[in-house]
Amino acid sequence: MKNFMLYLLIGCTLAACGKEAAGPQVVAHRGYWKTEGSAQNSIAALQNAGRIGAYGSEFDVNLTADGRLVVNHDFTYHGLTIAETTFDDLRCDTLRLANGEIIPSLDEYLEASRAWPEMKLVFELKSTGDPDYEAVALPACVEAIRRHQVEKRVEFISFSLSACREFARMMPKNRVEYLGGEIAPAELHEMGISSIDYHYTVFDKHPEWVKEAHDLGMIVNAWTVNAEEDIVRMLGLGVDHITTNEPELAQALIETFKSEK
Ligand code: MG
Repeated sequence: MKNFMLYLLIGCTLAACGKEAAGPQVVAHRGYWKTEGSAQNSIAALQNAGRIGAYGSEFDVNLTADGRLVVNHDFTYHGLTIAETTFDDLRCDTLRLANGEIIPSLDEYLEASRAWPEMKLVFELKSTGDPDYEAVALPACVEAIRRHQVEKRVEFISFSLSACREFARMMPKNRVEYLGGEIAPAELHEMGISSIDYHYTVFDKHPEWVKEAHDLGMIVNAWTVNAEEDIVRMLGLGVDHITTNEPELAQALIETFKSEK
């Protein structure tokens, strides 16, 4: 029995390592939207990311005036400040995404993600760091994630350091990646933030941060890497995740990169 448990432990450890050791992964930035009938942060973009087998689909979450969560990049939508507009007003029939969809609620987005259960949900909370906003938005995000039972698929990202720290506290098993780019990995690690997701030019300036992060067990994600030469250079630096508007190009470059290793 003891040996069985030992083998089981080794097997599980190898399986876990195998997942990360599969090589660099592609995160579709705001879903895969550069296709016919798609739009940034739309349900169609999420489905496209799933269809091409992206490791993850990144999306942006905003809180409405009446405490609902919607998927949208900017703090505004058709000139309306989301935090000052009700959910129903944002979803009125005349306001549409570029592909004709109504702005997705977080609930609709998470529900649609069930079609792609292997794909990670790279969840960006949009926040200026305002404590009153985050006091409502963060618990609402966590509640929705739990209600949809997608805890195992969510990786949090945010430019708000306070939001990253709070997500790490509220959901300690989930990866949290800070987006800001100005803090060394060791310092973030000290704060309990498990990974970094920095603009790719940060890694040009600080290539040593890739190893520093890896030595601490942190994942290194680079955003938003679209040009072939930039993707290739980031792969050469050893980043783990490429967040990109060109997920199929990145997938092809990763295959080439792995075959040349
Ligand atoms: Mg984003």
